[in-house]
Amino acid sequence: MFEEMDKDFILHSYGRNYVNFTHGAGARVWDDRDNEYIDFTSGIGVVSVGHANERVSSAICDQAKKIIHISNLYLIEPQAKLAKSLVEKSGYDMRCFFANSGAEANEGAIKIARKYGEVDGEPKRYKVITLKHSFHGRTISTLKATGQEKMHNYFGPFPDGFVYADDIDHIASLIDDHTVCVMIELVQGEGGVEPQDKAQVQQLAKMLKERDILLAIDEVQTGIYRTGELFAANLYEIEPDIITVAKGLGNGVPIGVVMTTLKDIFSPGDHGSTFGGNYLVTRAAFEVLEILDGYKNSGGLDASLLYFEQRLHEFVEKYPDIIEKAVGLGLMRGLRIKSAALLSALVENAFNEKLLVLKAGRNTLRFLPPLTISREETDEGFARLEKAFAATKAS
Ligand SMILES: *Cc1c(COP(=O)(O)O)cnc(C)c1O
Repeated sequence: MFEEMDKDFILHSYGRNYVNFTHGAGARVWDDRDNEYIDFTSGIGVVSVGHANERVSSAICDQAKKIIHISNLYLIEPQAKLAKSLVEKSGYDMRCFFANSGAEANEGAIKIARKYGEVDGEPKRYKVITLKHSFHGRTISTLKATGQEKMHNYFGPFPDGFVYADDIDHIASLIDDHTVCVMIELVQGEGGVEPQDKAQVQQLAKMLKERDILLAIDEVQTGIYRTGELFAANLYEIEPDIITVAKGLGNGVPIGVVMTTLKDIFSPGDHGSTFGGNYLVTRAAFEVLEILDGYKNSGGLDASLLYFEQRLHEFVEKYPDIIEKAVGLGLMRGLRIKSAALLSALVENAFNEKLLVLKAGRNTLRFLPPLTISREETDEGFARLEKAFAATKAS
């Protein structure tokens, strides 16, 4: 019934699975037939402290009963508190702008870079270099920033000034007098969960600093402890000029942030958002950060990501005819599968075993479990994955 309703009234922009989830708890979700699933996706890296997290839900309920929204023309206390917490935990000397999504955070990053290039001497600079296979969002300019030609088939004309490098090494040769910024993911999420090389990234950061070109790190997927540190930039030990955040910050409330060391780049009127950083979302996100900061400091996060990685490696050993290699960092993991057909079969077989997993790129089986996933939930998920692999092997 709801499937028909969905098909009749929702634009068909997603290849949808019509399971109807009604509730969740931790790394588990249930559908309307009471089937229980293990969630190794956390809604594409969003539900980082688990479904129906008690602390987050309570904070949301409490805030909703007081005030949800006023507008950015007034002080918003939880917004200020969240910004302080994010900046202090990051170790970077930055200020924040609150948006509602990853794409919007990246729009903000591009606007910051463009303004910097406008006001910072002659010639005016506007070009942003991104990487092939990157993903930066679905708005017209973040789509153009995305280095995948197949995503530029429609929707033109696009804004000018986006240049694509084959890889980190290729960036230097693309720089010209109009280049103002390089924007990269440290682990390409949609592109196949492939981490960049740390030494190469550090070298890039140094070269850009010398040439007064901004380094923007898209941490929409890697951010908020997904790779084991608050930001992947912390793990790579670099000092970016701009960081964007979204997915894992709100545990499902829509939030995006662009953070920058260019603390005075915007004047009133340069940028804005009606909903951005309202009471509800920033109160929820503040709670998420507190939970994850405690989890990290207690050693819980490191233990759970090591365990997850170890379990994945067992599959690499056991299924060399299906798996090429394991990729990823922290709890952003992938198994490179030998063919796209095998990958599709695996995802389907996993779903039949009531395990939610993702695809990335052409042939990567992707795992983004809640960061607070328990050992028991991890084991149950891998038991189901084992059955999915066995079924795939047999077919
Ligand atoms: C998901 C994602 C985006 C887009 O975020 P939305 O919230 O869907 O707009 C941008 N960059 C990266 C790296 C992402 O993973």
